[in-house]
Amino acid sequence: QWDENRVQNFLIIWWKSSSSPLDDYCYNEPHCDPYAWGDLVPSCHPLLEEHHSPIDLDGRMSRNQSLDSLLLEGFQEVQTGPWILQNDGHSVILQVGSGMSVRGGGLPDVYHTAQLHFHWGGPASNGSEHTVDRRRYPMEMHVVNVKAVHPNFTAALGDPTGLAVLGVFIDVAYADNVHFGHISQKLSSVAYKGQTTKIKPFPLLNLLPKHNMSQYYRYYGSLTTPPCSQAVVWTLYEVPVHISWSQLAQFTSQIFSTEEDAEQVTPLQNNFRHVHPTFSRGVFMSKGAKRFPASSSHPLRATVTLLHALLIG
Ligand SMILES: [Zn+2]
Repeated sequence: QWDENRVQNFLIIWWKSSSSPLDDYCYNEPHCDPYAWGDLVPSCHPLLEEHHSPIDLDGRMSRNQSLDSLLLEGFQEVQTGPWILQNDGHSVILQVGSGMSVRGGGLPDVYHTAQLHFHWGGPASNGSEHTVDRRRYPMEMHVVNVKAVHPNFTAALGDPTGLAVLGVFIDVAYADNVHFGHISQKLSSVAYKGQTTKIKPFPLLNLLPKHNMSQYYRYYGSLTTPPCSQAVVWTLYEVPVHISWSQLAQFTSQIFSTEEDAEQVTPLQNNFRHVHPTFSRGVFMSKGAKRFPASSSHPLRATVTLLHALLIG
């Protein structure tokens, strides 16, 4: 008898094994960097009119008055743990158990929160995946949520709205972020690929821009790592959260993409995918978003676009 769960469990094990092409990708070597991912995994090859992520978010977005704040269930409570922090060689991932979910805010269904992870740059360069008016923030956090009707992450990848990812830009300030400290203080235990450590749960809302939750951008896109599945409803919060320079430095210089016993250790840096064209996609501002003017026909931008068109013919 066809046992769907067994097949999916097999797929997950295959995916996570180091012999899988889905684990052979990298960020900084030409043979496996984001421009070569399509050679490893065909679904990462961005064809015309496809919906890949990340993208640049700019003043051409139109406002959607029906986009209110998302409902984040369990995000204010201390979940039963422990949570597991892990270095998979591509990012630092926090697996957060099963007590949280997101819905509302234009999402088509309820989504269970599965994990969060980070993208960052280097000691002197920024590394968010999405850019805002071409500006890259120092870091970006992704809170990954799986549509409740799917038994697991792999099953959700075949559904155009199978995943809902909340993206949070991380900027730098002088003071340490005490909430972020729950993670950054444990980073030395997951410095090398394959290492894991336990983390005491804390209210996840403390990592989000909790006073500005009605301000966000929305579009349909893809995973930003192989298999790059076009299965993601993206929510990017407009207002960043802040961490200190030293907390940022713990990511940019103390995490490695290689195992502890590797002959040559390689820092994990610039683990972001390049920006993709939006093509004909709608990209929307929430009702409460404030950064860009309400009009989508910004006169200065129209002039710049015209000049650009004239210059490049
Ligand atoms: Zn991500």
